[in-house]
Amino acid sequence: SPYNSQRRHASKHRFFVVELSQALFDFVIRLLPTQEEMAVKEDVRKLLERLIRTIEPDSRLLSFGSTANGFSLRNSDMDLCCLIDSAERLSASDMVTMLGDLLERETKFHVKPLPHARIPIVKLSLDPSPGLPHGIACDIGFENRLALENTRLLMCYAMIDPTRVRTLVLFLKVWSKRRNINSPYKGTLSSYGYVLLVIYFLIHVKNPPVLPNLQQMPPLRPISQEDTHIGGHNTWSVLLAFIAREASLTPRCRFFDDIELLRQRWQSSNTDSVADLLIDFFRYYSRDFTYNTGVASIRGGLLKKDSKGWQNELAASRYNDSRERNRFCIEDPFEIDFNVARCVTKEGLYQIRGEFMRASRILAMRPRALVTLAQLCEE
Ligand code: ATP
Ligand code: MG
Repeated sequence: SPYNSQRRHASKHRFFVVELSQALFDFVIRLLPTQEEMAVKEDVRKLLERLIRTIEPDSRLLSFGSTANGFSLRNSDMDLCCLIDSAERLSASDMVTMLGDLLERETKFHVKPLPHARIPIVKLSLDPSPGLPHGIACDIGFENRLALENTRLLMCYAMIDPTRVRTLVLFLKVWSKRRNINSPYKGTLSSYGYVLLVIYFLIHVKNPPVLPNLQQMPPLRPISQEDTHIGGHNTWSVLLAFIAREASLTPRCRFFDDIELLRQRWQSSNTDSVADLLIDFFRYYSRDFTYNTGVASIRGGLLKKDSKGWQNELAASRYNDSRERNRFCIEDPFEIDFNVARCVTKEGLYQIRGEFMRASRILAMRPRALVTLAQLCEE
């Protein structure tokens, strides 16, 4: 009967989803960096920090990007940012030139200083060796405080629901690399862009949401008399401390970062499995996201290109540039005039959307989980 066939269909689907979720966890776990790799990277950071301090004694070298936000894959490159605390400091491009010379003299790294890039950096790499079979690649930039802040924001999102968020993000990073749609230099999207797409989807598309919006969190409890007692260890005082600390930063970087408190007071009522979410993610970005008019903003939800002045034609004529910057629009969480996907070209977007559709098609056929993953990530 039709009723029975519907039930058979539903139970086949449940089986597929359970099996695929397990396969996704297993797949991602094997791609995480080893303890050893993380230790080597930390040693490299310390070594470089010591060397930089011979030029600028008041400097600190901090990790950002995947090594610091919980979305790191095995052998991923290191993003480092140098902060200089003294008032009189050299310009970023002078620092790049001097540091380049120093590292060339004192270390075995291959060194490539780029003092005149939009964001001046020193690129470093080490060749593979027995102890380090994949070598190391590393970029050092200067005073890029926004990158440190957005790394912290992504890390907080990863911590709220580590299993689902990290599995999804790590899988999509591998998938986008294997499918060749993860190179901003070639007109497709950076890992950072894909991570924002996942978080946007989990906050603003899924209903009920899987993640809260940390940039628009209301106080977790209404204000009452006792909440305002000075020194009381309660929600409100924690929030005040939070605001005081954040006020010293640029206001636009404010977000709710007390994840311990959040985990005590907030729980998503969304119980979808990782596989459910992945299937919906691909469906949403192959069918429903409004690429022509929409802007994905983890801060503000689905925005309009119009309201941000990000229309294709407009941008192209303003920059007198045939390359369109706003085919695909993803708002940076803090630098809200900045389109994280501005490198995506017409062909790049065509390719990315084609891959979302291909993935949806494969998932709709529901072969065995391992076959599905192999097909999805086929190189
Ligand atoms: P991978 O493991 O592929 O290197 P990743 O997580 O390090 O991934 P990247 O795309 O390398 O991600 O970005 C690293 C950091 O650089 C991000 O956390 C972000 O701070 C900054 N960043 C990268 N691309 C952009 C961009 N288009 N706009 C703004 N910031 C960016
Ligand atoms: Mg990186």
